[in-house]
Amino acid sequence: MDAIKNYINGELVAPLSNQYLDNFNPAIGEVYAQTPDSDERDVALAVEAAERAFFMWSNMPAEQRSRILMRIADLIEHNLERLAEAESIDTGKPITVARTVDIPRAASNFRFFASAIMHHASEAHAMESAAINYTLRQPLGVVAGISPWNLPLYLFTWKIAPALAAGNCVIGKPSEITPMTAYLLAEVCNQAGLPPGVLNIVHGYGHKVGSAISVHPKISALSFTGSTRTGAEIARLAAPLFKRLSLELGGKNPNIIFADCKYEEMLQTTLRSSFSNQGQICLCGSRIFVERPLYEKFKTDFVAATQALHLGDPRNEDTQLGAIVSEAHLQKILSYLALAREEGGEILCGGKRTIVPGRCQKGWFVEPAVIANLSPDCRTNQEEIFGPVVTIMPFENEEEVLNYANATSYGLAATIWTENLTRAHRLANRIQSGIVWINCWMLRDLRTPFGGMKNSGMGREGGWEALRFFTESKNVCVKL
Ligand code: NAD
Repeated sequence: MDAIKNYINGELVAPLSNQYLDNFNPAIGEVYAQTPDSDERDVALAVEAAERAFFMWSNMPAEQRSRILMRIADLIEHNLERLAEAESIDTGKPITVARTVDIPRAASNFRFFASAIMHHASEAHAMESAAINYTLRQPLGVVAGISPWNLPLYLFTWKIAPALAAGNCVIGKPSEITPMTAYLLAEVCNQAGLPPGVLNIVHGYGHKVGSAISVHPKISALSFTGSTRTGAEIARLAAPLFKRLSLELGGKNPNIIFADCKYEEMLQTTLRSSFSNQGQICLCGSRIFVERPLYEKFKTDFVAATQALHLGDPRNEDTQLGAIVSEAHLQKILSYLALAREEGGEILCGGKRTIVPGRCQKGWFVEPAVIANLSPDCRTNQEEIFGPVVTIMPFENEEEVLNYANATSYGLAATIWTENLTRAHRLANRIQSGIVWINCWMLRDLRTPFGGMKNSGMGREGGWEALRFFTESKNVCVKL
């Protein structure tokens, strides 16, 4: 059985505890690899290695850093099939999703920031003939990234790439539930010529490795993606140390559909925004509001389209929905389905655990569920489920749906479907979320600010926002 290793100072090493955690293949419900059960001692070693590498890496010309990061991107693409297969096994997601979304995006993350650092400039402020100020943007030193299991390599590299591009040395902690592609990335980094200690990857539990990172005094910034509850815990631990924090947290995103939308396009995209990656994407629209005149038609068509989705073995090319990432998460989703029934919801389709015959018969699969007849303020419509479960609700007018959309503690992403662009812009202006998609979903330009408001997070990733986060600005004033 594969034993995953930590990546410290350019070497693949066992955790100091010599203890390992079981790593499951969710599609077959069996252990297939071992993950290091690391602790604060491994984090300390990683930080020492990063500190040693910092002077060299931060003083390397940006062009040279950029070339190394470009090589990492090329090698990710070169290994696309191997990485996609590993991601699909580790998460239970369809191989087609790993191949077309997760791994290509991991390569794009490196390529984007390798290029961005070549164009990154800082400001100068002239005080007429009295003085000139110029602002330096310098790397922070040792920084960290902690990432979740839903898009493992995609989100891990989304943090690491800008941090490295800006000249920092990095401690990365992938989710203990999906460590495999981060492990394989270590090999890629060595092949690309990334110097030892510049990137260090420590595997293990959040309450051990993640906490140790959060309280380590030498780690000056921490970029986290995960649940709101963990984000709050990290903030509690890190705030007294004045660590810079970027927190990308949960969501309960509204999908607002007006009767004048382009129907077929909306229907197909709503299917994706509801159930892609088994609904385990923070950006999925889990609350679907439909304008009354369209409601009955949408309900019929959407349920039929959901039932036609092909759930099955993630290895099969025609599978659209794979397994749920862990047994614990499966139980969480099922408990929310029970809650929805208790709250008076009508489950229009799906919502049960299902057996996929053959090699996957012990796997963790849930039929995608569409639920009607729930009020916008019930728990099912307020709490993040993070699975293949959506609710549909009718609305009468713009003001009403705006109130529904904003009536949760989250504020990550929203989708609006209408051909009335004045109305779309008006709503986008008033909706409480960091990201608004009009007549599309998950159309991503990596230059744009990415993140949420309210309990969905703090700070923004992407483009210059990420490079600013990972640099310290220093103003120098020169009297003329
Ligand atoms: P999680 O919060 O359980 O875990 C995320 C990471 O934090 C893991 O690496 C975990 O080991 C670590 N961790 C756990 N406890 C910790 C602690 N006490 N201290 C430090 N680190 C700790 O989240 P998850 O279940 O892996 O991911 C699902 C969640 O992530 C959902 O809420 C989803 O909405 C959110 N998410 C948000 C975004 C976004 O961009 N806003 C993107 C993807 C996922």
